[in-house]
Amino acid sequence: GLHNQLQEIKGNIRVLCRVRPLLNHEMKGRKKHQCLKILNHHRVSVTNEQQGKEHPFQFDRVFEPSSHQQDVSEEVAQLILSSLDGFNVCIMAYGQTGSGKTYTMIGDDENPGLYFSSVDELFDKIHDRKKLIDYEIGVSIVEIYNEQLRDLLSKKGHNVGQVIKLRDNGDGETLSDQVIKTVKSKNQILHCLREACMNRTVGVTHYNEQSSRSHFVFTLHLAGKHRQTNEVFRGRLNLIDLAGSERILKSQAEGERIKEAMNINQSLTTLGKVFLALLNKASHVPYRDSKLTHYLKDSLGGESKTMLIVQVSPNVNDYGESLSSLNFGQRVS
Ligand code: ADP
Ligand code: MG
Repeated sequence: GLHNQLQEIKGNIRVLCRVRPLLNHEMKGRKKHQCLKILNHHRVSVTNEQQGKEHPFQFDRVFEPSSHQQDVSEEVAQLILSSLDGFNVCIMAYGQTGSGKTYTMIGDDENPGLYFSSVDELFDKIHDRKKLIDYEIGVSIVEIYNEQLRDLLSKKGHNVGQVIKLRDNGDGETLSDQVIKTVKSKNQILHCLREACMNRTVGVTHYNEQSSRSHFVFTLHLAGKHRQTNEVFRGRLNLIDLAGSERILKSQAEGERIKEAMNINQSLTTLGKVFLALLNKASHVPYRDSKLTHYLKDSLGGESKTMLIVQVSPNVNDYGESLSSLNFGQRVS
């Protein structure tokens, strides 16, 4: 239908925006706290307090601060289904540190995020199709930190996961030697996630700092076999908690920090360039300019489907970063 045609024109990138609520400590002191205004389900505006200038933005969907995890998971359910139908799917959360990326992706005990609702959704659907299709599920989890790809499911020695090398096969596919764990149950997937989080933290003193400076990629590899014909098809679901998009000023950073900041900047900029190249159907897509896009190459572009969730903080103090994130989302939508 029309919706599908629009999707095609838009190069299969859908962009959602989620505005997190003001946090308790942000409500103290000032009289005016918010720089964001939700106009409707598709429009949000950000206002520069000094100039009083309002910038409106439009997205496929805007989630207001009071939105529930379930609102977001309902919006992505269709994409989860696509991964079971043999498509490669990427769902990624973009935004400055503290804007709610991890909340949306992982959430907390009372409000589990997309990692959990997606796994639930997958198992429900696999169950529904049981008589027709037999699915095999694999899990891989990697972290990209300082342009280094680390396998969080491998335990060689006591390191924070083994460094993975990427190779291109002749057909333009990207190969990597990451561990893909075969799983049979939700519990086994949760176990993998727990293991990955432990591997991520080993030897790291400032967990939050590290997590805000690295990309976390959780991938479900889905192979379906039609019971009648034995025909096999494969799809992939990548759920990505991106590194914080904030600009770290050179004056505030030194040594390692500058290198980190430049690497994050490079990979998010490349992500934007890849989206734009796909959108414009450019002949060259700069996948290889960053580890993130190189690793995800087979899940970005072509027949694959991408959803970008732009996370923003409504806090007046975050005006600049919110504006910049909204601009990023707008550019690629
Ligand atoms: P990020 O991963 O982008 O750095 P977090 O997900 O850690 O940000 O969110 C920062 C803080 O805001 C956390 O305390 C988190 O619980 C809270 N938060 C984020 N989004 C929401 C939301 N939609 N509802 C309630 N609290 C949220
Ligand atoms: Mg986070």
